[in-house]
Amino acid sequence: MMSTLASDALPEHDEQTVIRVEGVHKYYDFGETRVHALRGVSIAIKLGEFVAIMGASGSGKSTFMNLLGCLDRPTSGHYLLEGIDVAHLDKKTLAGIRNQKIGFVFQGFHLLARTTALENAELPTLYGRMGKAERRERAASALAMVGLSDRAQHFPSQMSGGQQQRVAIARALVNRPPILLADEPTGNLDSRTSVEIMEIFQDLNDKGLTIVLVTHEHDVAQFAKRVIIFRDGRICRDEPALSRPNAREVLKTLPSLED
Ligand code: ADP
Ligand code: MG
Repeated sequence: MMSTLASDALPEHDEQTVIRVEGVHKYYDFGETRVHALRGVSIAIKLGEFVAIMGASGSGKSTFMNLLGCLDRPTSGHYLLEGIDVAHLDKKTLAGIRNQKIGFVFQGFHLLARTTALENAELPTLYGRMGKAERRERAASALAMVGLSDRAQHFPSQMSGGQQQRVAIARALVNRPPILLADEPTGNLDSRTSVEIMEIFQDLNDKGLTIVLVTHEHDVAQFAKRVIIFRDGRICRDEPALSRPNAREVLKTLPSLED
């Protein structure tokens, strides 16, 4: 796909770069106060990367993720998503792009309570033009991807936290986006369950999904391929992950819990 860039200042788009952020600033204005949450962030993320973002509370991680996920727009700077300058698109266009390109997973699972795992996973397909049978099939295959086929008819209250997060991951993947964004996805989970989620992420990444994950735990970040550290609204470190463990192997060494 060829693309034309809105600005001469930007380097030419190459097919492998799915996310390119250039000189992004974000201010939050409320009343008399103004918070400068992002202070000139630039980064390129290529197809198939698995990035962990760390940093102290308040350093701008969630603000950054919301921009990447097209949930919010930068005050200034550029954001190219697969070569498309999305920083200044209107809300409706942005929502359409988000639905196709990005899956989002949060710390709280945000599942609908009176709705089965299968129906929760199916939700994002309702905005598209898919027929009912195809939607069901997509949702079932997304649940299979996270190892939850046998829980399709369960309600959230009948599932563990780890299982609920897996339903949320299935929901994020049901439209088959190329990018998965996860903001503290293991923040509410015990350490074994966290590694199980990382096993799923590593599997998905091996299949080609680009993943950007925020975590405050080194034990979780180590499963990524690249670690970025935010400080005071800026990227202060950006390094390949050293000695990256395989989550499946790590799980063999951890005591198992009753399901
Ligand atoms: P992190 O996720 O790293 O903890 P955030 O991106 O949530 O950091 O916050 C960065 C800064 O922006 C903080 O000072 C925070 O208080 C402020 N902030 C975040 N969201 C809002 C908002 N909706 N309105 C006003 N200020 C905000
Ligand atoms: Mg946050």
